[in-house]
Amino acid sequence: MVLEESPNAFLDKTILPRYLALPQPIDKVQATYIWIDGTGEGLRSKTRTLSFVPTSPSELPEWNYDGSSTGQSTGMNSDCYLTPRAIYNDPFLLGNNKLVICDAYDFQHKPLATNHRNSCNQAMTAAADQHPWFGIEQEYTLLDMEGRPFGWPKNGYPGPQGPYYCGVGANKAYAREIVEAHYRACLYAGINVAGTNSEVLPGQWEYQVGPCEGISIGDQLWASRYILHRIAEEFGVCVTYDPKPVAGDWNGSGAHCNFSTKAMREENGIIHIEQAIDKLSKQHLRHIKAYDPRGGKDNERRLTGAHETSSIHDFSAGVANRGCSIRIPRQVADDKRGYLEDRRPSANADPYSVAEAIIRTVCLNE
Ligand code: ADP
Ligand code: MN
Ligand code: MN
Ligand code: MN
Repeated sequence: MVLEESPNAFLDKTILPRYLALPQPIDKVQATYIWIDGTGEGLRSKTRTLSFVPTSPSELPEWNYDGSSTGQSTGMNSDCYLTPRAIYNDPFLLGNNKLVICDAYDFQHKPLATNHRNSCNQAMTAAADQHPWFGIEQEYTLLDMEGRPFGWPKNGYPGPQGPYYCGVGANKAYAREIVEAHYRACLYAGINVAGTNSEVLPGQWEYQVGPCEGISIGDQLWASRYILHRIAEEFGVCVTYDPKPVAGDWNGSGAHCNFSTKAMREENGIIHIEQAIDKLSKQHLRHIKAYDPRGGKDNERRLTGAHETSSIHDFSAGVANRGCSIRIPRQVADDKRGYLEDRRPSANADPYSVAEAIIRTVCLNE
């Protein structure tokens, strides 16, 4: 079994709970600071002790890290700053311990190139009166230590796609334990997970975060990704958000972004949804550039027009059509109010960049 090749999978998992059961001094809280690294999609974390229980990120101290080890600075001038932006209950250490989503700045306190939260937050502030909501469907694929989708035969391929989407059974669903652990851990953390399902490619899964208003979609999605990496790490399995983990006749992974404003959610909001689609149709390139960490390069492999995607080169919209850039869900067309689904973002997209592009195009008319 390939799983045995992960050293983590060898460890006796019954020992750690003995130590985590030790009483924790009430004036000692462990805060794990989390940030995005130089790849724009990798996550890093480190933990410090606080002498109080934080209730708001503004109470937490700024911290720093060695940016030369994360692809974010040179060794000669390596210190980068971390500013706490959102806190969640830590589902690993429990108690008063916290996960802390941070954004990162250089030595002059300028946002790093990978800090898309800063400009996203400015756009969100400018559009706050429109009460923008986001719901992101995060697809991902589990991989073994050799980089093959988890559960796939060592030499060869599983049967063709068809039975795996929302499938049940040992020959259809692989590592559901990770999915269930992640779902519950996110709810415990305070992340607004809407649901989960297994996906079309064997070893591929999805969960949804939202609806979340404003900047919180980015904070929550990044926190949920971190928790997923951590849980899979314990099982000796890797998570990839690559938009096309297996070339050929296999589905890729997206991060469909469902979006609405207050006006869209109100009676006859469909008019505002159609206006938004018209604006989006004129900014296709801006959005493709923002919808993966390499300015469209990653999505080139995924947005082919096949496998429930639209072509990266064209903008299209339609009711209940999963081959379009933008889908209006059937229920929304029937109710004449609700939200639209932008199907273009890649699974490894930065949700701050995705949300910012939508806000600037739809709400701020830029
Ligand atoms: P799909 O049919 O495309 O698979 P899902 O059920 O997976 O859709 O995901 C739908 C997402 O849309 C959920 O995250 C949900 O929270 C979000 N959503 C629902 N209503 C709204 C809304 N009014 N505005 C923004 N997002 C919404
Ligand atoms: Mn979905
Ligand atoms: Mn899906
Ligand atoms: Mn979808």
